[in-house]
Amino acid sequence: MSVSSRIAFLRNKLPSNVKLIAVSKFRSVEAIMEAYETGLRLLGENRAQELIAKQKVLPDDIEWHFIGSLQKNKVKDIAPFVHTIHSVDSLKLLQEIDKQAGKQLRIIHVLLEIHIAREKSKHGFIPEECRNMLEKEDMTAYPNIRICGLMGMATFTDEKEQVRKEFRSLCSFFQEFKSSFFANCDYFTELSMGMTDDYEIAVSEGSTMVRIGSYIFGERY
Ligand SMILES: *Cc1c(COP(=O)(O)O)cnc(C)c1O
Repeated sequence: MSVSSRIAFLRNKLPSNVKLIAVSKFRSVEAIMEAYETGLRLLGENRAQELIAKQKVLPDDIEWHFIGSLQKNKVKDIAPFVHTIHSVDSLKLLQEIDKQAGKQLRIIHVLLEIHIAREKSKHGFIPEECRNMLEKEDMTAYPNIRICGLMGMATFTDEKEQVRKEFRSLCSFFQEFKSSFFANCDYFTELSMGMTDDYEIAVSEGSTMVRIGSYIFGERY
């Protein structure tokens, strides 16, 4: 199957409120352009250097989503064009994004990444830590960012019930935060969860953004 037919399959399958982000890390410009030609405009990358290199050569109307762990000193390099940063897991990073967005006279959308998986290696706030930050910090003090929702990654496992449980817990944090800290915020609407192996479960548990790479572009390994 071609890149375009895989995208068509996904579009057909995903509910209309779920955004498809094609994860283009490690992929060639040719393969990405095949996705672009189908009308797809949301691309996800997880390394700053690669994102910058691709943004230079690909069309300007692509909406770039940063989905990997982000070092503070790289924020300034992507701030001129990045649309959404999915992987904000500290107050310091949030502050840096606000500062660099301000310098560019831009507003950058961010998602707070919550650690829901069993693996220790995955990034993200511990839920309690995120709640504490939101209780203490006045988020209106950061006018150059827009906190649009939450992001999370499930445990890498074949146990579908475990994955479902983790996505369900992320969705419940999302609802809790939406009705408390973000009650007056009409743009706190996004729940970024689901990848090639688990997007169907994620969608059934309330995802509004799926980040899919291997299914669209083929296995990487
Ligand atoms: C690579 C990556 C994806 C896409 O994974 P696939 O299994 O290839 O669909 C999604 N989210 C993040 C954070 C990633 O790093």
